[in-house]
Amino acid sequence: MSRLGVYGGKQYVQENLNLAIQDLGLAEVVSARYFKANLNIETAFLARDCVAVAIFVNDDASGDVIRALHSIGIRLILCMCAGFNMVSLEVAEELGVVVARVPTYSPHAVAEFAVGMLMTLNRKIHKAFNRTRECNFEIEGLMGIDLYGKTVGVLGTGNIGSVYCKIMNGFGCKIIAFDAYHNSEIMSFVEYKTIEEVLAESDVISMFLPLYPSTYHIINEENIFKIKKGAFLINVSRGGLIDTKAILKALKADHFSGVALDVYEQEGDIFYQDLSATGVEDDAVMRLLGWPKVIISSHMAFFTREALRNIMQTTLTSLVQFIKNEKVEAEVKKIEIQAK
Ligand code: NAD
Repeated sequence: MSRLGVYGGKQYVQENLNLAIQDLGLAEVVSARYFKANLNIETAFLARDCVAVAIFVNDDASGDVIRALHSIGIRLILCMCAGFNMVSLEVAEELGVVVARVPTYSPHAVAEFAVGMLMTLNRKIHKAFNRTRECNFEIEGLMGIDLYGKTVGVLGTGNIGSVYCKIMNGFGCKIIAFDAYHNSEIMSFVEYKTIEEVLAESDVISMFLPLYPSTYHIINEENIFKIKKGAFLINVSRGGLIDTKAILKALKADHFSGVALDVYEQEGDIFYQDLSATGVEDDAVMRLLGWPKVIISSHMAFFTREALRNIMQTTLTSLVQFIKNEKVEAEVKKIEIQAK
């Protein structure tokens, strides 16, 4: 029996992983041990009886943590997500630790959530909900705009961005995009442009880029004011794509009609925790939450039944491939991302 150590093992992770173990007929092969804690240098030792660890977006698999895992025999790190920016691929490769991820699990889940955030912001559905709950049926201040005919700028047209383009095409929007690669599947209705052009021309900017050194703070204090005044900014990708200081500056200048964030640069200390009793020390997130034009959710765009099922099945498939000494299909290779 191979034991998998699962960090940050929330109830929904446990339920869906246990279900996938049953569905794939692996009950005699794999058992999961769930740790409430996130992975970091202090909790790495919890996995000492395991063959592999499974982690999520806000775990810390930096160099020292991987060294600690390696010292207790771990040779496989399974990211239960698409992004892998929390893992030091350099150290993993140096020590011969295999890193795998779930490259796609439901691009629809994330793209649909981005549309939901845009609709909520634009039509102020969250405010209307709160008003009517208090028997306030006034609609003053809740006006939005038609999205039909507006220009939607998409940064990153890979798996998720391309689904989002298709949905917004269905809304009757004009779609312009920035990506290093031009996706032939959507080229009949998407016009590729430079990032400067996309920022300047779009009524809605939506971000679907991964976090790489080349995309870190791709929206920053220099270019945030190049975004068309009155645009909506939607980021469901990775917090590090936008410099939070730049958003605060632009909000102060009343530059946006709305900003929707499912991700935040310093989310690791905040998201996936109930801090309602203690509050949050992070000043920047508290300032963001104070703006009426901002909505924040805690990295949950992926969170659908279908996505969870796919995540768990791919994670287990990688584990089984590893145990059988087969090629781990979903392995992340440092060499593949070096150019990015
Ligand atoms: P993908 O790899 O399919 O697409 C990314 C696109 O970005 C590619 O087309 C690539 O060419 C482009 N790109 C990368 N670096 C670039 C650069 N420097 N300049 C221009 N273009 C560049 O990824 P995906 O599956 O669409 O996911 C996108 C991101 O969404 C993930 O990396 C992850 O960070 C995020 N995500 C968030 C959630 C959530 O729950 N909020 C869930 C899943 C994924």
